[in-house]
Amino acid sequence: QQKPFQTKLVLLGEAAVGKSSVVLRFVSNEFQENKEPTIGAAFLTQKCRLDSAVIKFEIWDTAGQERFHSLAPMYYRNAQASAVIYDITKASSFEKAKSWVKELQRQANPNIVIALVGNKLDLVAETGSGKAASTKTDEDDEEADDDDDENGTVTAEGQSTNSARAVPKDEAKAYADEAGLLFFETSAKTGEGVVELFTEVAKKIPID
Ligand code: GDP
Ligand code: MG
Repeated sequence: QQKPFQTKLVLLGEAAVGKSSVVLRFVSNEFQENKEPTIGAAFLTQKCRLDSAVIKFEIWDTAGQERFHSLAPMYYRNAQASAVIYDITKASSFEKAKSWVKELQRQANPNIVIALVGNKLDLVAETGSGKAASTKTDEDDEEADDDDDENGTVTAEGQSTNSARAVPKDEAKAYADEAGLLFFETSAKTGEGVVELFTEVAKKIPID
């Protein structure tokens, strides 16, 4: 029986991108459609079993609102890992994620493992499981609005699912590579990519 290796992980990102939902999926395998906003920060733990070790994540789920920004250093200081989350249907949240990455790279532990996470993958109507991301060329994208605008589907809950992707996967991946980050796309709603995110982060944690 191995003693778990404790690892502090902080979640950062604009309000409503799904930080709390991603953690809830990871910790309890649940999803809440109308999750109440986090005030200050929430603390949760979950273990991740690797072949070589058991990593116990101590997760600080921060509030995304700008008025809580000054509190963030308290949470990322001493963190071994961070997941910086954005919403793939909201371009501004990607810009905010990049600014969090810059702040971490300047101010956090220099060895911090950073994962960039594009959440709400379920909202974009791409075929396949995300692996078959669109391979269309960039040329005609600018003004040609997505062709599925008019025929968005409505789910049983009456929710529209025709949100268009605002952050291309290739662009986010290229940025992540350049900045030395792990990169994932997830859906807290379906669970896609969530366990993989935490497992890949766990594998990068130096254990000594
Ligand atoms: P936070 O402010 O970043 O912690 O975001 P929350 O976890 O509170 O989520 C904000 C809203 O987005 C809530 O209504 C969630 O139900 C919804 N949400 C979170 N993740 C997903 C997702 O992967 N897919 C969809 N469709 N909605 C999500
Ligand atoms: Mg939250």
